[in-house]
Amino acid sequence: MIHRYKFLTSVVLLALGVSAVAETTLIHAGELLAVPGESPRANQTIVVTNERIVEVIDGFASATDFDGDVRIIDLSEKFVLPGLLDMHVHLQGELGPKNDSDALKMSDQLMQMRSIHFAMNTLKAGFTTVRDVGSSPQEMYAMRDAIDKGWIDGPRIIAAGGVGITGGHADISGVSPELMEMLTSPNICDGPYDCRRAARNAIKYGADLIKITSTGGVMTDRATGTGQQMEMDELREVVLAATRMGRKVASHAHHEDGIVAALEAGVASIEHGSYTGPRAIKLFRKTGAYLVPTLLAGKTVATLAIDADFMSDAVKAKAIRVGNDMAGSFERAHKAGVNIAYGTDSGISPHGNNAQEAVLMVEGGMAEMDVIVAATINAADLIDMSDSVATIEAGKFADIIAVDASPLENIEELLDVHFVMKGGKVYKQP
Ligand SMILES: [Zn+2]
Repeated sequence: MIHRYKFLTSVVLLALGVSAVAETTLIHAGELLAVPGESPRANQTIVVTNERIVEVIDGFASATDFDGDVRIIDLSEKFVLPGLLDMHVHLQGELGPKNDSDALKMSDQLMQMRSIHFAMNTLKAGFTTVRDVGSSPQEMYAMRDAIDKGWIDGPRIIAAGGVGITGGHADISGVSPELMEMLTSPNICDGPYDCRRAARNAIKYGADLIKITSTGGVMTDRATGTGQQMEMDELREVVLAATRMGRKVASHAHHEDGIVAALEAGVASIEHGSYTGPRAIKLFRKTGAYLVPTLLAGKTVATLAIDADFMSDAVKAKAIRVGNDMAGSFERAHKAGVNIAYGTDSGISPHGNNAQEAVLMVEGGMAEMDVIVAATINAADLIDMSDSVATIEAGKFADIIAVDASPLENIEELLDVHFVMKGGKVYKQP
């Protein structure tokens, strides 16, 4: 028995190219949801060496079964599951009354420090991998790379480069013309070939994926609606240019015309999808594209719009309408079998509240297990990381979290994460 563990451990370590002498961590899990979608198992031991999971053993293994330094983490009274993934965050900001003054008064450097703080709030809430789909790209690529190198702590970041049209949702709004001129991204484009250039340019500077906005958006400070804004030829060129360079495209889209156009162009995911109707559902199912619902953003802006002075009338009107329509759209899409990947639009809501989306998804009729699958297996598939994250299995990164009791019975357990390990390093412990 003892020899079996030692043997297996060294075989897996060799396969991973890890030297045989390493510190081993044994996590005793009272209940373990190793693979979301499958039943949890009682009394399991997760064996972690360096940043990876080496094996999962039935029962509570003891330190003497292993060579070298062994530490035991006792989660025998906890429910243990893989670190969660959030496919829609904006780590660079948080919506609030001080946004305008912050933009004027804060240095880029201080803002970057704040982004690191927001990233830590996210990680400590149990979200070990996030996809940032709209921040100043160079800052976000730097943060992604610094975290990867272990220079700073934070969740794994998949960072988007934005491509948008003049006056569209991704373009600067709500400030003076002089500031607009200064702050307009070089990746604002018009017409298919200009948008092809913009997509290539975003990739050149480090984008893991391209984020576009096929429709108008709620927070754009212009009364330009939430219908389709990018033309079919622009959408197609962006997707083609991205695909040629091995990048996926995510499209923000509210109204169905824009959802349909983006899906026809071949995007990998639709963000928000607030007015997903029968035409969109048919295309979702045909293409297998993911819907990233961001119900938390809808709820947050609809609530804030009631009496937030910092929102203009144009924004308020959109926030109340779209915010209240989002939930029904999610219910329709989910019932119709659309692939769903978890995403919160955090930055609209405070960073660290990411698990509140799960509560809203259950309220929207999704089973607890399906919500967890959306936040693990499905999200990892969307970002092509199925081989390295989202389950607790040999060879994967040791991204592991724990809560008090089964979120399969009460999803609100996810709001209170007591243990967070990312890549074998503990960030929160009971
Ligand atoms: Zn967003």
